[in-house]
Amino acid sequence: DKLKESKVYMRAMFDYTPLEDKATPCQEAGLPFKRGDILQVVSQDDQTWWQAKRVGDCNLRAGLIPSKQFQERFVTCFLDFVSAGLRRSFRLSRKDRRDSSGEASVSDQNDTEFLTYEEVTRYQQKPNERPRLVVLIGSLGARINELKQKVIAENPHRYAVAVPHTTRPKKSHEKEGVEYHFVTKQVFDADAQNNKFIEYGEYKENLYGTSIEAIRSVQAKNKMCLVDVQPEALKALRTAEFKPYVIFVKPRIPESHRRRSAATSPGGGEHGRITEEDLQEMRLSAQQTDQQYGHLVDRVLIKEDTASACAELRSILERLERETFWVPVSWVK
Ligand code: 5GP
Repeated sequence: DKLKESKVYMRAMFDYTPLEDKATPCQEAGLPFKRGDILQVVSQDDQTWWQAKRVGDCNLRAGLIPSKQFQERFVTCFLDFVSAGLRRSFRLSRKDRRDSSGEASVSDQNDTEFLTYEEVTRYQQKPNERPRLVVLIGSLGARINELKQKVIAENPHRYAVAVPHTTRPKKSHEKEGVEYHFVTKQVFDADAQNNKFIEYGEYKENLYGTSIEAIRSVQAKNKMCLVDVQPEALKALRTAEFKPYVIFVKPRIPESHRRRSAATSPGGGEHGRITEEDLQEMRLSAQQTDQQYGHLVDRVLIKEDTASACAELRSILERLERETFWVPVSWVK
């Protein structure tokens, strides 16, 4: 009976280092893991310490990891402690936040305290199922739109963008429903009010946005829909319907002065003239995106140059249709 394999798998949303954990009953028995690791939970008998193995690890012995309840309490206590020292009103009550979880306006930072584990299961797209949504997010300098356009242009019968809405006037060479859906400001505002967009923004006094319907209509043609969005849109997209596969495109950022001069020399790199401040800003942007949204990312793509990044993106997309991936259990019911 003891040999029965546990079917409970969790994706870790935090790093755990038993040797630094003062609460553990036995540091040597602890199982270290990193955010994003998949853990097979062998026993949840103890309320505080679960027994688990890391998937893909050759080590067959299970180790101790903090249970979900214990980790939640730990993080909440920690935040209480910090916020008490700063500002009393910092923390919304847990119940308030849970109740409003359906709304995109909930600040992401406040959710940090619940980053513990997410139960996941293996999933492979079946031939008759609609393709998964592919979401590209990028930090400063990643130029994901260009990547997306290139990969689609190579394979337009398999991949497509969701046609965005805009309030700007149609240009003579453009066709309604091809480059954009051209709408009036009134229509756009009403759609935005009715939560029809996954994201929208203003550019040169015109509104632009991508609708949920635009994604559905690509999927209805049995094509894989590629969207690039601000990472705030991720929450709204993480549904069983879309089963988004999230790729974080991070530019490779040179570190030293020597590397930088190579990147700014003629033909060396795509960034043109880049100052040390630009590089610093790019590093910061990558760090922030990683900190805030890293737990929602399935794959990090380090972009060296456009050609190699395109090749890598292409191979990721091909594997998506063939291979098995971990998704939240709630997506597969
Ligand atoms: P254009 O008017 O030249 O076709 O597009 C101008 C800019 O609008 C683009 O460079 C892009 O920044 C922005 N844009 C286009 N589509 C969207 C969209 O769906 N959402 C948002 N937020 N901006 C968009």
